[in-house]
Amino acid sequence: MAVEFVKCPTCKQKLAVLEYMTTGSLVVCANLKCGTSLRIISRRPLRVEPVPEPETYKVDYRPESYG
Ligand SMILES: [Zn+2]
Repeated sequence: MAVEFVKCPTCKQKLAVLEYMTTGSLVVCANLKCGTSLRIISRRPLRVEPVPEPETYKVDYRPESYG
């Protein structure tokens, strides 16, 4: 199976992107200290962009001290 490599835009970690991962697929950075969620925005050339936090981290939580 073909594997392509792309660098994490956040930490420069080299990430493997498998052939079946199409545009729009999500990849999580392999660097445990980074862990950024990345979306494949283009296959040729292979490009990824970080997914904004609110999209992956939706928590309906309000601190009690707020308001
Ligand atoms: Zn990273």
